[in-house]
Amino acid sequence: MKGRGPLITLNNGVQMPALGLGVFQSPPEQTVGAVEAAIRTGYRLIDTAAAYMNERQVGEGIRKSGIDRSEMFIETKVWISDYGFDATLHAFEKSVRKLDVEQLDLLILHQPLPSAFERTLDAYRALEKLLADGRVRAIGVSNFMPEHLERLLAVASVVPSVNQIEIHPYFQQAAVQRLDHEHGILNQAWSPIGGITSYRGMEKRSFEDPALLAIGQRHGKSAAQVMLRWHLQEGRSAIPKSVKPHRIEENFDVFDFELSGEEIGAIDALETGVRGGPEPETITLETYGRPIPEA
Ligand code: NDP
Repeated sequence: MKGRGPLITLNNGVQMPALGLGVFQSPPEQTVGAVEAAIRTGYRLIDTAAAYMNERQVGEGIRKSGIDRSEMFIETKVWISDYGFDATLHAFEKSVRKLDVEQLDLLILHQPLPSAFERTLDAYRALEKLLADGRVRAIGVSNFMPEHLERLLAVASVVPSVNQIEIHPYFQQAAVQRLDHEHGILNQAWSPIGGITSYRGMEKRSFEDPALLAIGQRHGKSAAQVMLRWHLQEGRSAIPKSVKPHRIEENFDVFDFELSGEEIGAIDALETGVRGGPEPETITLETYGRPIPEA
């Protein structure tokens, strides 16, 4: 076993594994096996979301692996349809029941709702209460752009521990990363190996990038491993998704090599400014809302 890999200390002192398994688009029937394979490999962080409809299978995979709950770091997200103070408290109950755990390690808001920002703030207040009550060990946000973060920070009593945003070599969101950093908020990269460039059929695809492949060749590593190493060396958390055991292992086999400053600079230079995911400003309840089932 390769062990758990490096830990990152969040702004409230809680320690989180830097590298975890993502399960967006992991079909429920493949999620149990993926989580078990990840834990066997040494992963201790799993990132799911109420909207992924596989929290139950994440919980089952953890239980089936035989690992002690206290060894795991479980992160999930509240979907926009459950924003509002009471609705978000209830969303927490739905998630812990599906995951079959008492406490979450990290609970984050999946998206800002710019057109209903008061509701977003009420949802965040619910997270603050869950934190104060010891139901979650840390709280955070996702897809918050600088304007959303500024509005939240103006009223929040707890600075989020994490902002999970799209970050891969082609889309690095330097301004968001800088603002997060200034406030002690950890950048957690979604689509960290640029999977979205492949499954959305974008013009430039990270796994085929000649610069990444060339760097990988020098170290005997794949493009995916080079990107994950780049995140870790730049101080980010990353949550690559796979349902294939050999890739789950490959994506964790990144602790035995070091990228040079020049290689890091070459990867930084791959920025295209093209976002793969939806523009956060366009997320509304009308277009993206959908009910999250009861546990
Ligand atoms: P990733 O960058 O993790 O790429 C995943 C894709 O690449 C999958 O199609 C996977 O297929 C494939 N893949 C995985 N490993 C390799 C490899 N070593 N070589 C080649 N292909 C590989 O993209 P995601 O968008 O899934 O992001 C990761 C996680 O981030 C999500 O699972 C989710 O937890 C989170 N996320 C959060 C969002 C948010 O709004 N907060 C939005 C999107 C993602 P296969 O499974 O077949 O191996």
